[in-house]
Amino acid sequence: MDGLMTIDAVRAAVAAGTTTATALAEQHYARIAADDGANGKGINSFLALSRERALAQAARVDAAAAKGEALGPLAGVPVGIKDVLAMQGSPATAGSLILKGYRPPYDATAVAKLEAAGAVLLGKLNCDEFAMGSSNENSAYGAVKNPKALDRVPGGSSGGSAAAVAAGFAVATLGTDTGGSIRQPAAFCGVVGVLPTYGRVSRYGLIAFASSLDRVGPFTNTVKDAATLLEVLAGRDVMDETSADRPVDGYVAALENPVEGLRVGVPAEYFGEGLDPEIRAAIERVLDGLKLAGCVVKPVSLPHTKYAIPTYYVIATAEASSNLSRFDGVRFGLRSEDAATLSAMYRKTRDAGFGPEVKRRILLGTYALSAGYYDAYYRKAQQVRGLLTRDFLAAFGEVDVIVGPMTPTPAFKLGEKTDDPVAMYLADIYSVAASLAGICGVSVPCGETKDGLPIGVQIMARHFDEATMLRVGAAVEGQQAGRQVEG
Ligand code: GLN
Repeated sequence: MDGLMTIDAVRAAVAAGTTTATALAEQHYARIAADDGANGKGINSFLALSRERALAQAARVDAAAAKGEALGPLAGVPVGIKDVLAMQGSPATAGSLILKGYRPPYDATAVAKLEAAGAVLLGKLNCDEFAMGSSNENSAYGAVKNPKALDRVPGGSSGGSAAAVAAGFAVATLGTDTGGSIRQPAAFCGVVGVLPTYGRVSRYGLIAFASSLDRVGPFTNTVKDAATLLEVLAGRDVMDETSADRPVDGYVAALENPVEGLRVGVPAEYFGEGLDPEIRAAIERVLDGLKLAGCVVKPVSLPHTKYAIPTYYVIATAEASSNLSRFDGVRFGLRSEDAATLSAMYRKTRDAGFGPEVKRRILLGTYALSAGYYDAYYRKAQQVRGLLTRDFLAAFGEVDVIVGPMTPTPAFKLGEKTDDPVAMYLADIYSVAASLAGICGVSVPCGETKDGLPIGVQIMARHFDEATMLRVGAAVEGQQAGRQVEG
């Protein structure tokens, strides 16, 4: 197996019998064994492998292929799952000590859907504790290294999911994005990462961080692979009342439509101070390319953008403080043994089990929700969230997609921001507004800095218009390929 494989290549090879799902699973496990551990590059993306389940599924796919039966859209595709999603038989830690030893007795809907489509589940992927972070350095199980630059972070919180695809450990992975956790690591690692519209993909079986923001989505090497995965993942699920009851578009077929005539909005607010000049130049090249392809590129205004980070960090911490109250040592994972009373057991378990960032957020969130402060913080943040959403709805009255930088800087060095939580929060400057508004977004690779660090462009679209968003993503990807050929 040379280089990175696409889903189409895997499916075609398995169907034609030129390889087997079993051989592919073994090849990917061999790569993980070589490079993920401390004896190799020490990427540290996988927290647990699910060999037995993977090989049983691969054998089922191979048997079906041998009989010439119709194969699912992900037949034989080796995938990895962020460790905040339940996968029966495997540990689910959410990157936290407090869940050590917990094994969920069921599959998340997104996980079950991948397997039903023929995917081979390799194991669980490292992430920031309870998905809180932008660098994967908040994991209780160690940081993840960026496969493109081993002294740098892969982004977070889905750092393991992005790194696993970039390193060729998996053809695709699942991550979650609450305020940027799919799109930002995708940009840092040079892969494609999709934030689906809120409600497009079921959250059943996802360990909740901030329920009004959490979304499940794919990481892949190509936009077409992302479209294939999203088509499998999307749809109504009776187990998640917030999943949307509306038909799923043909995302793969939509990629065939030309982008000519589409209106592309460029928000001035996303090109302000702090944007790395090489990233700015790369995004400008993307916009030039879209103009050449016949898009109408024009400025749009998202005037409340400057309030997005404070708004996000009030709402996300408030919801987290409530969601994380269930981890009390009684029901899941860790339990402190040296406590004489029930309340001491709660306290000691939570003190030992949660890391510093999670504790900080529980404190911030509890404060924002407390009597006397609720109106000043939480209610106010919800009002501003409404304004941010209106900004997008107004802009989408004039344009079909909004295009801008995904991150203000390329991947930063491991340890660079760990002592400064606010600097870490500011890394989310271009991701959190789309999260608050519930719209969809994708990060697509669009070049590298002169030091070889990946750059991502963010494409955002209206609620449930992933088809148009991915279509523009595919056009950008095509231009990149063209540029590489031109050399
Ligand atoms: N970096 C953001 C945070 O720390 C986003 C995390 C996420 O999307 N899960 O909250």
